[in-house]
Amino acid sequence: MLSKKITDGTEFVVFDMEWNQPMPGKEYPFEVSKLTGEIIEIGALKYVYDNGELIYKDSFSTDIVPVKYTKLHYHVKKVTHKKNADLLNGIPFKDAYSGFRDFCGDAILVGWGSSDPSMLKMNLEFFGMDPKLGMFFLDLQPIFSLFAGLQGTQRSVEAAVDFYKIDKNEIFHSATADAHYTGAVFEEIFKHNKPSEVISAISSSSIDPDVPSDFSFVGPECLDSISAFATAGSFMKDCPLCGNRLSVKIPAFRIRKSQYALLECREHGELFSRTRVKKNKAGNYYSASVLRFATQNDYWLVASKKEEFDKYGEKGQPAVKPVEEEKES
Ligand SMILES: [Zn+2]
Repeated sequence: MLSKKITDGTEFVVFDMEWNQPMPGKEYPFEVSKLTGEIIEIGALKYVYDNGELIYKDSFSTDIVPVKYTKLHYHVKKVTHKKNADLLNGIPFKDAYSGFRDFCGDAILVGWGSSDPSMLKMNLEFFGMDPKLGMFFLDLQPIFSLFAGLQGTQRSVEAAVDFYKIDKNEIFHSATADAHYTGAVFEEIFKHNKPSEVISAISSSSIDPDVPSDFSFVGPECLDSISAFATAGSFMKDCPLCGNRLSVKIPAFRIRKSQYALLECREHGELFSRTRVKKNKAGNYYSASVLRFATQNDYWLVASKKEEFDKYGEKGQPAVKPVEEEKES
C-alpha cells in the first residue's frame, strides 16, 4: 500500500521486543487493557540495501526497567529465561525509546509478525509519549512464507532459521537474538531470490503503522443470508481513509461461508475485503466484514480463493484434506 520506494541506500531496521504481562487476577490502579504488555527489551539490527544485497551496518540493544509490571509473569519468565532481578538492569522506557528512534532514522522497520509495532504504540500512548512511529513497517513473516512456498501459513522465526539452515548459536526469545535471527532470514531471502521480486513483494506489503489499516463492519439483521451478504456492499464502496470511490480489481465472489474481493483506492492502494454471514440468537442473519490494506498474505489469499472459485464454484473444492480456515488476523 502506502509504501516507500526502495532504492540503493534504503535502510532497514530489523527489530524485536520482549514485554512483561500483568499478573492474572491482580488489581492494578489503571486499565490493564490500555497496557497489555510493558516493554522490557528492544533489540535491533540495521541493514542498508545495496545493489541486490542487504549489508549489515549496526546494532542496537537495550533493557528497559518496567514500572507497572515489575515482577515477571511466569509465561514471560519461561519464554525469555529472564529473572526478576534482571529487570532492574534496564533504563527507563523514555530513554530506551528515544535511543531506538534515533537509531532507526528514516529506515523501514522490519519485524516478525505484526504485534510489535502495535505494542510499541500502546506503550508510547500509555506513558504519555507521541505514539506516531513515523516509519513504515514490514512484517517479514508472510514474505518468508511467500518465498519459501509456504503461503498462507504462519511460521515461527525459528522455523525460518531452520529452513535456511542458519546457525543457531544464540538462544531464541531474547529481543536481541530474535532480531539477529530475523535479520539473518531477511538476508537469506535476498540471497535465494531475485532481488527485484523481493523488493516488489516488500513494497506491496509495508504499511504505515500510524494510519489505520484495518476496518470492520457489522451489517443490520436480515431474514436470509443472501440479503445479509448484500448489506456489506455499502461498506465496500468508498475508501475508509479518504472517501474516494473504490475501483474493483477482483469483483466480489462467494466461496463456502466467505465473500472476498480486492478493491483499490487510487490514492491509498489496494484493499482486501472479506465478509462472512453469521446468525444471531434470534435466528436472524447479519454480515461481518473486514476491509484492510492488502498485504502479501491477502493477495495470496484472495487469488487462491478466486482460483478455487473459478474451478469449483461457490461450494469450493470438495474436502480431501481438512479445509484450512484462514487466520482472523
Ligand atoms: Zn483512499
